[in-house]
Amino acid sequence: MDPTPPDPAGPAPLKAYSVGDAVPPGVLRLHLNEFRFPHAPEVLAALAGGAAAPGAPQRLLTEYQAGPDPRLLDALASHVGLPPGEASRASILVAPGSDEVLRAIIDTSALRGHRAVVMGTPGYTHFEHYARLRGLEMKNYAIGLRTPPWEHEAALLYHADAMEAGCLVYLCSPNNPTGDLWGREAIDRLSSRFPRSLFLLDEAYIEFASAESEAEGACASPLNRCSATPASVGRDNVIVTRTMSKAFGLAAMRVGYAVGHPDLIRSVGLAVSPKAFWPLAADVAIAALRAAPHYLAAARRARAEARRVVDALTRAGWWALDSPANFYLVWVGDTASAVAHLRRSGVQIRDRHSLPGLAGFVRLTAGNELDSDAVLAAFGGLTPPPCVPPQQLFTPKGRIAEIKGLLRTTLGVCRDACLPVWAHGGTLLGAVRHRGIIPTDDDADLAYERPSEGPDPAEGLVPAFRAAGLTLQRNRTDAYWQVGTNSPGNPISDAHIDLFSLRRCAEPDGSVRLRVEDPRFAAEDPLSGQAHCNTSYSPEELWPLRPLPFYDLSLCVPAQCEASLSRALGPDFMTVMRARRPGGGDAVAFALEDFSPA
Ligand code: PMP
Repeated sequence: MDPTPPDPAGPAPLKAYSVGDAVPPGVLRLHLNEFRFPHAPEVLAALAGGAAAPGAPQRLLTEYQAGPDPRLLDALASHVGLPPGEASRASILVAPGSDEVLRAIIDTSALRGHRAVVMGTPGYTHFEHYARLRGLEMKNYAIGLRTPPWEHEAALLYHADAMEAGCLVYLCSPNNPTGDLWGREAIDRLSSRFPRSLFLLDEAYIEFASAESEAEGACASPLNRCSATPASVGRDNVIVTRTMSKAFGLAAMRVGYAVGHPDLIRSVGLAVSPKAFWPLAADVAIAALRAAPHYLAAARRARAEARRVVDALTRAGWWALDSPANFYLVWVGDTASAVAHLRRSGVQIRDRHSLPGLAGFVRLTAGNELDSDAVLAAFGGLTPPPCVPPQQLFTPKGRIAEIKGLLRTTLGVCRDACLPVWAHGGTLLGAVRHRGIIPTDDDADLAYERPSEGPDPAEGLVPAFRAAGLTLQRNRTDAYWQVGTNSPGNPISDAHIDLFSLRRCAEPDGSVRLRVEDPRFAAEDPLSGQAHCNTSYSPEELWPLRPLPFYDLSLCVPAQCEASLSRALGPDFMTVMRARRPGGGDAVAFALEDFSPA
């Protein structure tokens, strides 16, 4: 499936980037992932001392700067594990905030012949804003929630063609707001496979992940353990961006930087003004880097608080997703009322409802102990939504690959045996909707017609499946067949195919319909299982079968399957996804855009 189907309405018009309304003093600022701990005394001294130094007003207020302070370059080089010296300085670019570095990378894309950006969603919206402002073509892919790294890489590879041709690839590690981390091996693998593309690794929050990690990386500071620097410096198509705004708490000082190959740093530097530095910011940043143990302790406290709040919320019935950074997501359903309620309780949080794949979610900053107490007290006045977020039901991408493999073999075996099969249940829905597996499905469903007389044709396929390395066996309930990678007689493998036999049945009104034989599966309940539909067909609706592309396969569907789908699922079956929450209970309907493409 094409992961980015064209949006008929075209891209939404650009609006000014907003960080939300002004927050009055006294309200806890847990909406922008700011630092929530006291600063190191030496940092406060650098701020006060710098402003009070003799001649400071003249120097700080009136003089243009000629590039960043070399002492800051040295301090940053040492923080990210580069050896002291001129070569390391040439590998670092400082700008007023890492947003400015991101913008400079985007602004110099044309120099590298790049006109497109590959970026996972949900992701850092300000980056996307800059890229769209520059007219770069956005090539998005869905990250999903709780996605293991190999699934994330598989999703990114949907855009292998664009990366082959050369484009900017934005990888945020940990990703704001889902927390996904990119390991050095993956960055090496991707950057060598796609030498024409520039891999931009945004490590704005890497210090939090590093603070928690026990791993011994090539690093001077424990706050750099999980970073892809300094390895990036050796490659000419990887650039890492970092900031002093988060773990070092200097957001208002505007100190961001990039680490990369000197040639790359030089070309990106073309878009950064040498006048754009406030000298006092350099003094303060150097003091903060020297006080790294203080900030390491604060980062560990933020992580401990994130775990404490997420655990407590989960025990209270909420669905919350922690990250390796200083933020976490909570599924609240109605985000506007949750944000308003927390605001009334004196806590400002961020509504992430409008981000792709995050409908119903809010994001909170992991702050200090008092912040956490206030958050938990405020959530105590709300009721958790009655269902899990739809994203929780996503089919993992690796599972989809397995199901596709099983489908390919099954279709081949049935074709060789001249047994016509068609997409049934959830697979029919996915085939008609987007030529792929529906995002919540855990298997593939196929059906065939069993003649009223004679043996079941599926029976005869058992040896052919065995020869193809698969098992065809009756389901535990004996009601239908299943194809999997298990050995015969054992429980079916997790990824599998259900193969239903349908028979012509006389209806009370005298008509004939093809139905699943077993009455337990014959009910046309649109909500049975996870968005499954046990469809029935009149012979005219079924024959002749119609082939549809399904990923890179060709899959048959009933001639007039839209009619049967509409009867089983409702006339809005193309746009609304219905699912029961696991364990039963109320059915919920989600708009399709709440789901990432599978
Ligand atoms: N990258 C990410 C992922 C961020 O979340 C942020 C700030 N929210 C930035 C970069 C920008 O940080 P700054 O400009 O303050 O350095």
